[in-house]
Amino acid sequence: MHGPGDILRTVGPRYGDKPALVTRTRTLTFAELDALSDRVAAGLAARGVRPGSPVSLYAQNRWEWVVAYHGALKAGAVVNPVNVMLTPEELAFVLRDCGAAAVFTSAEQASTVLELTRDLPGLSTVVAFGDAPEGALAFDALLASDGPVPSVETDPDAPSTIGYTSGTTGHPKGAVQSHRAVLLNCALTATMHGRRDDDVVVTALPAPHVYGNVVINGTFLAGGTVVLMERFDPAETLRLIAEHRATLFEGVPAMYAMLLAHPDLAGADLSSLTRCTVGGQTIPISTIERWQTRSGAPLIELWGMTEVAGLGTTHALYAPPVPGSIGVALPGVELRIADLEDVGRDAPTGEPGELMVRGPIVMSGYHGNPEATAETIEPDGWLHTGDVATMDATGHVFVVDRRKDMIITGGYNVYPAEVERVLAGHPSVAMVAVGPVPDPVRGELACAYVVPATGTDPTEDELVGYAGEHLAAYKRPRMVRFVDALPATSTGKIMRRELIKKFTP
Ligand code: ATP
Ligand code: MG
Repeated sequence: MHGPGDILRTVGPRYGDKPALVTRTRTLTFAELDALSDRVAAGLAARGVRPGSPVSLYAQNRWEWVVAYHGALKAGAVVNPVNVMLTPEELAFVLRDCGAAAVFTSAEQASTVLELTRDLPGLSTVVAFGDAPEGALAFDALLASDGPVPSVETDPDAPSTIGYTSGTTGHPKGAVQSHRAVLLNCALTATMHGRRDDDVVVTALPAPHVYGNVVINGTFLAGGTVVLMERFDPAETLRLIAEHRATLFEGVPAMYAMLLAHPDLAGADLSSLTRCTVGGQTIPISTIERWQTRSGAPLIELWGMTEVAGLGTTHALYAPPVPGSIGVALPGVELRIADLEDVGRDAPTGEPGELMVRGPIVMSGYHGNPEATAETIEPDGWLHTGDVATMDATGHVFVVDRRKDMIITGGYNVYPAEVERVLAGHPSVAMVAVGPVPDPVRGELACAYVVPATGTDPTEDELVGYAGEHLAAYKRPRMVRFVDALPATSTGKIMRRELIKKFTP
């Protein structure tokens, strides 16, 4: 096996008739998934897609997405999974930036994509899932291709995917991920969480995101079944866990917060869960504890980023979990905490610095952006994660926050995640995010945006007072705004930079 495109061929024969993928509209066995993706590969080759041609996938979670992903890889294409929440303008940027030769999309979005093809001469094929509008090729027609499956030699170091970052902090950048990096990540995800062929994973993580990708393909690699939701919905999640006797649920922190706040949780049957995973953003310890108590399953934290094609750390099954930590380096991956002023020096043990990653999972670079690549990957291979973290003597890493999100108030540095973690522990807080508001005296102030827990009516004074009991005075939020929901990315990550734009009158 050289890349993720080899997973189905390898696992398929052994698990042929077993369900690999369950979606609302269709269940596919390993054999069906393998055979259908062969047809996509044949169809793409017949339409001129050659090894190395970029093929974009722009649709929400559905079985066709997974078939298209594997089919495109089997054709030797470089897959470009696109965040479905992008606006047409942002989509145009991504398609142009990666040089897409073909795009798979939903029938609803096909006309938007067709519009864009006028300015993108290299983009010759638009495949639509469902009823294809004029100018687009129906996915069913592609599946009907009877040509040969191209035989492609996979170079492990060649690009497998160009994954654009979530854009949580700015413009998305295209991380070029090698076959080796992606496959290794799937294998590490499978091993670190002890995936087995009797596992049933329920998830609503978007397939285009690296976390979604390693969960889906890491589970396939182990011969397990993935129940893939189109989008996250707490009531539906609880129903699917019970219906499929799910052994794993995997999601971002906001999903756990919404599950814990949902009225259906009281009567939900979670007895089949043996473990859950969470990552993508800082999760308050109180959320971890509440979920573990309610589900009876350990909630394993992991940390990852697009630039490492999936995970970089997690808690190993063989190591005792350390609460509040994102875990330890994955086997074969090096981590260090660099001095914030001098990247060549290590920060002292336990002191905050920038988390740096090196190893075979690190991206080859940002697509067509040598300047950003040079700023992000040191000549000796260390990748800047942009995350401030500490490491203890046992190698456990604790994320402080993103470097870019630090709030400077009256000369003091405040990391929003630390304040959020404290406020999340208050019983009247269902969800919270902290962001800066400009202040003529202090430069910036920390403002907490709070979604109150159902049936509670917290006040600003109460929450500021509570924060003050647990945090140094300068870290206390100066303002609290009560809101109905927090702005989130398609992965469900809270976008702090949108807070002020969204909630300032
Ligand atoms: P962009 O780079 O475009 O701003 P993004 O960084 O959110 O978007 P991703 O690659 O999806 O894009 O996310 C990686 C980031 O998510 C990490 O750098 C880190 O800041 C955050 N993250 C991931 N897992 C965790 C975790 N367990 N705890 C805290 N933060 C995490
Ligand atoms: Mg990032």
